[in-house]
Amino acid sequence: MTTAEPKRIALIAHDQKKPMLANWVTQWADSLKDHSLYATETTGGVLKEKVPGLSLHTTRSGPLGGDQQIGAMIAEEAIDLLIFFTDPLSPHPHDVDVKALSRLAVVYDIPAAYSPATADLIMQAGYL
Ligand code: PGA
Repeated sequence: MTTAEPKRIALIAHDQKKPMLANWVTQWADSLKDHSLYATETTGGVLKEKVPGLSLHTTRSGPLGGDQQIGAMIAEEAIDLLIFFTDPLSPHPHDVDVKALSRLAVVYDIPAAYSPATADLIMQAGYL
């Protein structure tokens, strides 16, 4: 149990990486439970199914504007951490949205992880 302010965490994964994100969230569920979780629609559906008891808010699906919604939240300083497990080996029709989202994470200098190795390091560093 942390005494720090709850953080706002965005959780997104491309289709091939959704199982990996579900595993990661399960691994860190105890640390994540005191924070506000946001996910794009399909990712959120998978996480709710695979991680019992997980509470999260969902945006639209990524390709339908969900990545842009998360990006807008970053611009409003309403997201503190971006976890986006991307799939670099598949084509995505909404690549420009993904690029815009990762760009805003840099513009607003929030911690962002695109694979489990970095996501683990952020958690191990005690950011939450
Ligand atoms: P999804 O969107 O969770 O709705 O699949 C993720 C993405 O940006 O591909």
